[in-house]
Amino acid sequence: MKLGRRQFLRGAGTCVAGASALALGFTPPFARAQETREYKLLQAKQTRNNCCYCSVGCGLLVYGIGDGAINSQESIFHIEGDPDHPVSRGSLCPKGAGLIDFIHSETRLQYPSYRAPGSKEWKRISWDEATSRIARLLKDDRDKHFITHNEKGELVNRWLSTGMLASSAASNETGTLDWKFARAMGMLCFDNQARTCHGPTVAALGSTYGRGAMTNNWVDIRNANTVLVFGGNAAEAHPVGFKWAVQAKINNGAKLIVVDPRFNRTAAVADHYVPIRAGSDAAFLLGIINYLLTHDRIQHEYVRAYTTASLLVRPDYSFEDGLFSGYRPGEIGPRTYDKTSWNYELDEHGFAKSDPTLQNPRCVINLLREHAARFTPEVVSEICGTPVEGFKLVCEALAETSVPELTTTWLYALGFTHHTNGSQVIRGAAIIQLLLGNVGMPGGGVNALRGHSNIQGYTDLGLLSLRMPGYMNLPMDSQQDMNVYLKEQTVEPELPDQVDLWRNFPEYFVSLMKALWGDKATKANNWGYDWLPKWDQSYDLLHVLERMRHGKMTGYLAQGFNPLGSAPDKNYTTQALSQLKFLVTMDPLDTETSNFWQHTGEYNDVPTEEIQTEVFRLPTTCFVEEYGSIVNSARWLQWHWKGANAPGESWSDAKILSAILMKMRELYRKEGGACPEPILNISWNYQNPLEPQPEEVAKENNGYALADLYDEHGKLIARRGELLSDPLHFRADGTTASFNWVFAGSWTEAGNQMARRDNTDTGWGCTPGWAWSWPANRRILYNRACLDPMGRPWDPKRRYLYWDGQKWTGADNPDYPLHSPPGSGVGPFITLAEGRGRLFSCTSLVDGPFPEHYEPMETPLSHLPYPTKSLHDPAVRMYADARARLGNVEHFPYVATTYSITELFRTWTKHARINAILQPEQFIEISEELADKLGIGIGDMVKVSSYRGYIKAVAVVTKRLTRLDVMGKSLYQIGVPSNWGFKGATKPGFLSNTLTPAVGDANTQTPEFKAFLVNVEKA
Ligand code: SF4
Repeated sequence: MKLGRRQFLRGAGTCVAGASALALGFTPPFARAQETREYKLLQAKQTRNNCCYCSVGCGLLVYGIGDGAINSQESIFHIEGDPDHPVSRGSLCPKGAGLIDFIHSETRLQYPSYRAPGSKEWKRISWDEATSRIARLLKDDRDKHFITHNEKGELVNRWLSTGMLASSAASNETGTLDWKFARAMGMLCFDNQARTCHGPTVAALGSTYGRGAMTNNWVDIRNANTVLVFGGNAAEAHPVGFKWAVQAKINNGAKLIVVDPRFNRTAAVADHYVPIRAGSDAAFLLGIINYLLTHDRIQHEYVRAYTTASLLVRPDYSFEDGLFSGYRPGEIGPRTYDKTSWNYELDEHGFAKSDPTLQNPRCVINLLREHAARFTPEVVSEICGTPVEGFKLVCEALAETSVPELTTTWLYALGFTHHTNGSQVIRGAAIIQLLLGNVGMPGGGVNALRGHSNIQGYTDLGLLSLRMPGYMNLPMDSQQDMNVYLKEQTVEPELPDQVDLWRNFPEYFVSLMKALWGDKATKANNWGYDWLPKWDQSYDLLHVLERMRHGKMTGYLAQGFNPLGSAPDKNYTTQALSQLKFLVTMDPLDTETSNFWQHTGEYNDVPTEEIQTEVFRLPTTCFVEEYGSIVNSARWLQWHWKGANAPGESWSDAKILSAILMKMRELYRKEGGACPEPILNISWNYQNPLEPQPEEVAKENNGYALADLYDEHGKLIARRGELLSDPLHFRADGTTASFNWVFAGSWTEAGNQMARRDNTDTGWGCTPGWAWSWPANRRILYNRACLDPMGRPWDPKRRYLYWDGQKWTGADNPDYPLHSPPGSGVGPFITLAEGRGRLFSCTSLVDGPFPEHYEPMETPLSHLPYPTKSLHDPAVRMYADARARLGNVEHFPYVATTYSITELFRTWTKHARINAILQPEQFIEISEELADKLGIGIGDMVKVSSYRGYIKAVAVVTKRLTRLDVMGKSLYQIGVPSNWGFKGATKPGFLSNTLTPAVGDANTQTPEFKAFLVNVEKA
């Protein structure tokens, strides 16, 4: 039978559900498609968009009816993959294929509603009532609790009793407004979803390579010779991006290797699968480092030229029995160590000393060798439960790519980040890739696969407690003088002749201040420096929830974020939210968070009437009902267009924030109050201040010249009012304004670069004409490292860049000074003071300059096979109440790990009917052997408990998990998908974070969701 295009579409529309129905034994539904009405694509309005779920950022063609005329009802009726998109090329995974059901979900909110203290129900209210009441509550609390000076009398201008959680799927332009809104208020209790997922990525990759982001890009994965998926499950969590790993197999005969606690869907198509105990990743990685150094399987010339291998470390640095030098017993978190000794020996010019022969025992490479020597294959096997042969297979596969002409690409996600030593785990992978000479190479790199569709953008915009846009830090209490702050933030080169982009910190900072305060920022008032809140400690999500539980918080705004399902220890979070006076949720959907007070049987067993929190539930637009840019995992800023109006009375986030801000301004003007200046002065001079338009904000993100700008030769660079194209044009004298220096170049005088759609492949799958990538439209970071110092390609077949006699050029934009010739000695890691990749991270991290293995806070082990004075990461910050909620192996004998499944995206996609049909009911996975032992059969209902609570779910008894031998004992692992809850279109279920402990990565406080102890029994 020959299918026409429309018939084919009808079939395609049913195929997602069909696959599932077949699996359940139903008749294929294809025949019924004959009865469906034909799509009227020709009469439809077509708009381009990107999937709002994961950060592959697949392209969409969105079809809607209604032409925008008065009385015409706009509605989206069909979505399909965009065949022109260079990454997705028309594909969508089951989540993307079900987007239409998210847009039209029955749980889409239509109008603002209010839950009074102690009430059991929602009441409809008007937008005016909602925004007026919220503005009143915010102002009253701010006036009452605003802190102008700390105990030392230092000016701090901060507000700690109300906080905000920002989205991670809204556009960058919304993110900019979020940041301005929160900081103008003086909020420090401010975070976004990145806190609960890829926080450690920024800490680890930033401190190793200079930028905390995916090094390469989705399509580039196809250039690899070995694809190692360790710390993630790309086939399941990033299905369309993963097709490039399959392409690597097809194109290059690449080996695909998976290391994971579970034989997952990526493992199902891999050449090799190697099991590991959840929570033991760092030991495995240190074992690989030991293997590569012991067997001399590193890329010597690369390591010598492009890493810090030869630099000499201070003589007082040491490591003994699990602790680094400078340990301060009794102190936790950032104070655990005095980090003075974690530094290089300096010469008389203040540069790091080095020994290019690598003979000096204080050379970084020799200290690394000594550090990793404990991790022999046998020790790794004991700790990780991985058979020695499996471990060696991984080592050998990686070692094969230590030659210049072969590369490994590394794919990881939350499997690495969700640990108390998550940052150190990622550091381990980053070091291995440096030793192999794989960074900056097409087909190489460490590819941090981000989660939410714009979590990268929200990280770039600095929507985190202590951050500012472009990875700058907010000033702290001790930095009272702006010049002290600028001096401390400006990084001086550690080696001669290095680029060191952080040298220009004052230019980025003053430009931001001009964007924030406009004409109110003057040289005389230090560009409004005093209006920025100063910090004394981190007010990350875990800390904020702790403050709530202790009654130190009055209000909270959760925007596109479902913390009841995202923060660890759900029951603990319920206690925290119950202490608030008011909670505001802004979301297109009816989330668990907005209903945290609602008794929903076992799933949410709460005393509704006792909960005195008043809750505002504000309906917002979703991705097809607004426009702007989002950043995919590969740092591409992709512009999307609006397809239809939102249902009911929904408002955009921008409109909601603006309404509240304008009402607060009015109140401050009328009544006065605590520190009104930042609220009154924050630049909100949009054409319509009640509804800023994305174009206006996108240009503000990019940056303007505020005066005619000339270069050092007197040549005009930009006229006053023109958009800038390069952060190197920024000035520290107030003549430039830019909200985010890393986005400079995204919207220039040549137009909106993010909206470009030229998918020409310039080589190695590089498409620099599609969208715009930060920094400076570079598609592979550190790409100068694909050539040797003299500019010769390490691999003659991969001439990704070359020197044309005048400048660097090639398939990509060089991540390097264009005119620094071969042999100049300028290192390729241009944001690091050394210009080289760091094997030793000096003082960047709180828990050590080298990675170290520490056990999860709940571990089945009481000791390790070598002497250690600290079983757990000593720099972990854990509050006493949370520590008291840790279980032990006697009562909770199994190791559990959480994960996502292909059909559902966190606790979001369960609201979409088709996805709910695909995965209707909560399940957990246990091994056949354990099921046998516990008398559990396939499909039985089981109860999984930790010290903190329990969930009940259907048992999937599987071969995907097996018993491991760990430190001489048998160990069983349980798989807990984290996709259900008590709201949405699936059968009601439990939030899986009920089980997990409230503790985070020592550096970033990203929760330890991947390894904890549970018990399992038949329900
Ligand atoms: S969830 Fe990710 S892989 Fe799936 S369609 Fe959306 S962007 Fe693509």
